[in-house]
Amino acid sequence: MRLVLMGPPGSGKGTQAKMLAERAGLTHLSTGDILREAISSGSELGSKAQDAVEGGKLVSDDVLYDIVEARLRELGSDKCFILDGFPRNLRQAEFLEAILPSLGIGIDATVLLDVPRESLLRRLSGRRVCSRCGKEYHLEFSPPKVEGVCDVCGQELYQREDDKPDKIEKRLRMYDEATLPMVKFYRDRGLLVEIEAEGGMEDVLERILDSLGQGKQGRV
Ligand code: AMP
Repeated sequence: MRLVLMGPPGSGKGTQAKMLAERAGLTHLSTGDILREAISSGSELGSKAQDAVEGGKLVSDDVLYDIVEARLRELGSDKCFILDGFPRNLRQAEFLEAILPSLGIGIDATVLLDVPRESLLRRLSGRRVCSRCGKEYHLEFSPPKVEGVCDVCGQELYQREDDKPDKIEKRLRMYDEATLPMVKFYRDRGLLVEIEAEGGMEDVLERILDSLGQGKQGRV
């Protein structure tokens, strides 16, 4: 299976991508993770992306094209993957469609996670992340045992710059403007799978696997 996972900020896209990758044996390619790692390592890519990522804006398409094409080439044509965070606008979707034949692969489905706007705001504003191991918490839904401290490695938790209230508004607006037009693009190609993504993480995962014909009874 080669999948694209789409959803607004706060829809649980990153979490579902990791769980799906593990359950179905897919390589998880998250452009957000790649950019955040580049920023914390202080690489050239990181310095190009930092202002946009921390300001809740999109990084330029050219930067993303280089990253994604290189990663997909590295994986080779026999590897299955889940793309999380790319494509994020129509141009990126067209780019992906254009390069896939030269890599000898195609996309099997684009999964769209649907979550009401009020839930997105609540999820994003309560998210906290460990500054060392990257484990995610939520102040209300999955708080750490000790306030402000990671259960796994004891390091301090922080709030992502782009999860601060003014940035959240900007990211949601950007999603509506840039990312939603991709829904039609993938629907027209018969690839869109829409998932109601409210509720527990495991339930959402099962819904996705069922819709892809890979539920508990299916071939994972
Ligand atoms: P995410 O973890 O997917 O929410 O991504 C975090 C941030 O990385 C986004 O708000 C953007 O600034 C940047 N980013 C990730 N993927 C892309 C992309 N495909 N195009 C442009 N910017 C991206």
